[in-house]
Amino acid sequence: MEAAGREGSGSAAAESPAGQEGGRGAAGLPPEAERSSAAAVLPGFDDVDAFVKYALGTVVAATKASSRLPQPGDEYDFYQSFSGFRAYCETQGDRLLHCMSKMMQYHDCNSHMKYCSKVTELEDKFDMLVDSNDDILERVIISLDEASGVNRNQQPVLPAGLQVPQIIVSSWNRRAKGFQEKGEPETFRMLHAKNIPRPQLKFREKIDNSNTPFVPKIFIKPNALKPLPEALTKSGRKRKERPEDLDVPAALADFIHQLRTQQTEQEIFAHPYQYELEHFSPPDKVLKKPEPQMYRPIKETPCHLITTLDELVELNEKLMNCEEFALDLEHHSYRSFLGFTCLMQISTRTEDFIIDTLELRSNMNILNETFTDPAIVKVLHGADSDVEWLQKDFGLYLVNVFDTHQAARLLNLGRNSLDHLLKVYCDVNSNKKYQLADWRIRPLPEEMICYARDDTHYLLYIYDKVREALWEKGYEQPTQLQVVWQRSRDICLKKYIKPLFSDESYLELYKRQKKYLNTQQLTAFRLLFAWRDKIARQEDESIGYVLPNHMLLKIAEELPKEPQGIIACCDPVPPLVCQQISELHLLIQQAREMPLIKVGRPEKAFFGPHDRSRVPVDDFQNNSALEPATVLERGRLLLASQRTKNIRGVPPESTFFVATTTVSIFSEHNEDEGNEKASTAAQRKAQLVMDSLDNPFKMFLPPEYNPGYVSEYAKYDPSTKIYEISNRWRLMRRRQVQKESKGATKKKAAQQSAVRDQAQKVYKEETEHIVSVRQQAMQEQANKKRERVTSEVGTELPKQAKKRPKASQQPEELEAPKQFTPFDYSKSNFKVFAGSSTSTQSPQFDPAKQAHASKRSAGANKLQQSGNRSMSYLAGKADRCVVSLLPSQ
Ligand code: AMP
Ligand code: MN
Ligand code: ZN
Repeated sequence: MEAAGREGSGSAAAESPAGQEGGRGAAGLPPEAERSSAAAVLPGFDDVDAFVKYALGTVVAATKASSRLPQPGDEYDFYQSFSGFRAYCETQGDRLLHCMSKMMQYHDCNSHMKYCSKVTELEDKFDMLVDSNDDILERVIISLDEASGVNRNQQPVLPAGLQVPQIIVSSWNRRAKGFQEKGEPETFRMLHAKNIPRPQLKFREKIDNSNTPFVPKIFIKPNALKPLPEALTKSGRKRKERPEDLDVPAALADFIHQLRTQQTEQEIFAHPYQYELEHFSPPDKVLKKPEPQMYRPIKETPCHLITTLDELVELNEKLMNCEEFALDLEHHSYRSFLGFTCLMQISTRTEDFIIDTLELRSNMNILNETFTDPAIVKVLHGADSDVEWLQKDFGLYLVNVFDTHQAARLLNLGRNSLDHLLKVYCDVNSNKKYQLADWRIRPLPEEMICYARDDTHYLLYIYDKVREALWEKGYEQPTQLQVVWQRSRDICLKKYIKPLFSDESYLELYKRQKKYLNTQQLTAFRLLFAWRDKIARQEDESIGYVLPNHMLLKIAEELPKEPQGIIACCDPVPPLVCQQISELHLLIQQAREMPLIKVGRPEKAFFGPHDRSRVPVDDFQNNSALEPATVLERGRLLLASQRTKNIRGVPPESTFFVATTTVSIFSEHNEDEGNEKASTAAQRKAQLVMDSLDNPFKMFLPPEYNPGYVSEYAKYDPSTKIYEISNRWRLMRRRQVQKESKGATKKKAAQQSAVRDQAQKVYKEETEHIVSVRQQAMQEQANKKRERVTSEVGTELPKQAKKRPKASQQPEELEAPKQFTPFDYSKSNFKVFAGSSTSTQSPQFDPAKQAHASKRSAGANKLQQSGNRSMSYLAGKADRCVVSLLPSQ
């Protein structure tokens, strides 16, 4: 559902300008608009509604047209083999991107979709688009609030579920006329309810906001074809000792342990049902011609509210006897860092169930029995988010899903949203106005229950109907049906990824801003960003609640001298900003102390491998990107005269320091090519990357071995670029190390005497591997130690030898590189696996460290203190943040 919703708003921004391009005026208005009187608010339209209707019509037409285009993976690849088609696509694609850029620039968003086409991946473009939509919508809300004289912080708020909901106008997804019921306004409703007790406080398992990767919450694996990895079982999670230590030589134990740890790491972060999903194919009975079974009228259907474990068990038993059931979730993400699922709706052919997942959060996992049963079809609409939420909150997984959103896409229905399907197949005018309601409210108002129930009640009938249509579309063959099951399975394979903070996280947000920040502003931006992340994790609030993006940027831009100035940048002032104003003030002061260097280009140019949006070296060389003014003018819809900055917001006179950075990132040596400043910045970046790659086990080591470089975790998060680079880099290094070590290995093997005890024989068999793995580890150690004082190396060796006398008994193995010391895994920190947020050992993210990059003596102590706080959610602090002056939202 969420996917469908986003798709809607995404295409609105993306396609409306495209649809209007041909033969129309620059402002994208219909021909008659140009003739119309100047008096009208919108020339050519009687009122705003008329315009909205016209615009929506255009958008729908464009969306329809776009979904009729050949799909990648299907016909598209075939068509692509014709040069005429390719050329046409290219020109049209360019035009579309150009239009989108224009739109986005007009709204002052980061754009240049077209001009970065060579470097910017589709995914990045999509991100850019989504961000722009967010930006624009945020501005729309603010404008509407202003227009209606409502200050957002002064909105009256609801005591739980008793009063009439506050209406928020959400014109971007306002429905066409005819969808109204009982003369209600066609708007979405945002239920902002104050005084809702924080449900998190009642969660049995405390929220883990620590800056560590997500570990699946599954302990028992029903319907397993492959057993749950030992490391994830209850006993496995507890075990810390090393059984392989017992009666084998230490070196061998090290080796075995290293392999095991590696494997454990893989197992822990793998999708627990990957094997089952990969070996899943839909049962024959669902691939036949379906006979649609009409839904039971709502009024005749029993609706059960499930709030106790007994009821949940009973439900699970009912589901076991079903061939299929429909499933949906409602989620809350504003007053929580990671968000939580508030409601689960399930419908069978005869009954509806609403599960209070706040109440039953820790029991929900029993449903894995039916959710992962390959014989039961789970029907969802737009399952992408649901799949992640189920994993995150309950450790629930899905096997055998039919996603009606995927079916709708395949059927080219024009619109793929659930309300569209409801309209088409059930003639039901659904009302999505509660989609954004605050689902934490208890007891649930009747209206909200009805809304939630509608989301699944008709879904099995829709499942029948779309299967019927797909059956026909596939000429009475199950091919089309299989495609839907396949795509749905791919969605089920998605893993929940926890947002991890790294030193470079702020760049993601910064590079999406159109604004160019100088060194001081950028420092402030970075510090505020880190502060926000820290506070959000600590207080268990969303970053949007702590400090919305636009306010963060405003403060960074303005660099207010006084605390009052910070307050003035925010309207309304977020409670936590108010509460922590002195800390924020210190951060800004610190940023102001940065030397104000007119860097212009370098900071951005040195985004290195993390920034795919920057123009590649080639482009600079052929100077195509050095014509910012022209580029800008072409892309500008209005206000052309206002702009003086070039495409990346850099004054045209700035010097471009680009050369050699990408090379030096992975180069050990300083390839200084004459530009002092550039090399230094490059080296700094390179060092950051190197640091993040040095030891793949760093996160499991005790803190003294782990300087707490937070990007480390990104390496386990497949969605990050660090992960990509890390893998590539590890491979490269492994290859090189293996090459280097071959010669040495042979030599040593020859030296070994024939008379050895049993253990050493075993060891010998493994020598080649050991040396390579060891040398790899050695090199990693060496990398790390390069930064340290050399004498430390000497002091460490005896320590190790003392602890592990066995190791010293085998001089051959260890003689190779002098400074090598084996990892002592006995000191490893496995608390990260326990999901415990209270671990003081765990190298948790400490943004305050960043604040000390340039240390101030005055504020230093205070900052240090706050930095030492645990990042985990502190239950006691939950609601004390409300500042009386400022009504909280
Ligand atoms: P649905 O699948 O429509 O029931 O939506 C499930 C949940 O997704 C809702 O409870 C919201 O938390 C979230 N959601 C759906 N649509 C949106 C949207 N347009 N913006 C933000 N959140 C949404
Ligand atoms: Mn949903
Ligand atoms: Zn829903």
